[in-house]
Amino acid sequence: MTTTTTTDKTSRLAAARAYIERVRAEREAAAEKRKRKLPAAICRVCGTNVPAGTGTRGDDPNRRPDAMKHAPQLAEIEKLGPLVDFWRRTCDDCTAADAAGELEARAVSTAVGFPVAISDALAVVGLMRRTNPVTGVVTGMFPTAEVSGRWSGRPWGHLTPEDRKSIRATLDDVVGDTLPKRHKSGACGLCGARAALVWWVGPSSLRWPGSDATVHICDTCAEVWNRRGGPDDGDDLRRVVVELATGYAVPFGLRAPEGVRPFAASAAADPEGLDEPWTFSVGIRDLQREIWTARPEVAPAAMREQAEAWHREEEAERAEASRAEAEAAQAAGW
Ligand SMILES: [Zn+2]
Ligand SMILES: [Zn+2]
Repeated sequence: MTTTTTTDKTSRLAAARAYIERVRAEREAAAEKRKRKLPAAICRVCGTNVPAGTGTRGDDPNRRPDAMKHAPQLAEIEKLGPLVDFWRRTCDDCTAADAAGELEARAVSTAVGFPVAISDALAVVGLMRRTNPVTGVVTGMFPTAEVSGRWSGRPWGHLTPEDRKSIRATLDDVVGDTLPKRHKSGACGLCGARAALVWWVGPSSLRWPGSDATVHICDTCAEVWNRRGGPDDGDDLRRVVVELATGYAVPFGLRAPEGVRPFAASAAADPEGLDEPWTFSVGIRDLQREIWTARPEVAPAAMREQAEAWHREEEAERAEASRAEAEAAQAAGW
């Protein structure tokens, strides 16, 4: 008797679970179907093209009366192409970034051309929201595609030079003089960065090609360079270069590869600097790959995932090699 009751209970429970599961699956399928039906549109935030069936559709901010929804002319309006969603669609990229100020950071960074901290970006967007003190009407806001009524089909491509200028000016107000600046002597002689918060006089062995001017280095490089005793040249300086470019501090007793050079002493040396620090030589890139493959934990956050993939790949290759070796040894033994 007891067994039967338990079985009944178990099967009832299983049936209930299956039912819940089915309802959930149906609901998900319905949502997926609704999404697939979405036409191509424009991202209301960044103004990029949102392909059919992608993006997130928000509520209509100016919710039309129900009668309007079925008005015959609406079908005509809906044929209008990019604006078909009346600025209700957000692209997948903006939707994914829409957490804890990441979207704002991306927007402001794109507008000014260098990475801006989330807190500063949030302050910029907040400050750009201006309200008429008398009427309470919002008179200005951060120029998203929707706010500006412009779009280009590329993320933030609709920003005009004036937009960028006013965003930059607002950012100046927010961060005061803590913005990275260029140095009159040129880029960072170690990594090639164009702008820095604080500039330091660099290693005395470094000069830009054809110039006697002292080479300066950025604050990021200076931190490690100073910590390692501010070496002027030789292996000590190369070890600093390895640590800066890869995050890996060369242990005592090991030498840095001979070919590793600071930017100002490399074949690509140019006081104009680089878009991306440390991208001036194949040797450095190879070294980064070698070190990050062996030690993914020292790779910069943006490269960590890639480094871990390289690491797993190498482990697998090594395991395969030793398996083949063992097999060969066994075969030879027979
Ligand atoms: Zn977008
Ligand atoms: Zn630097």
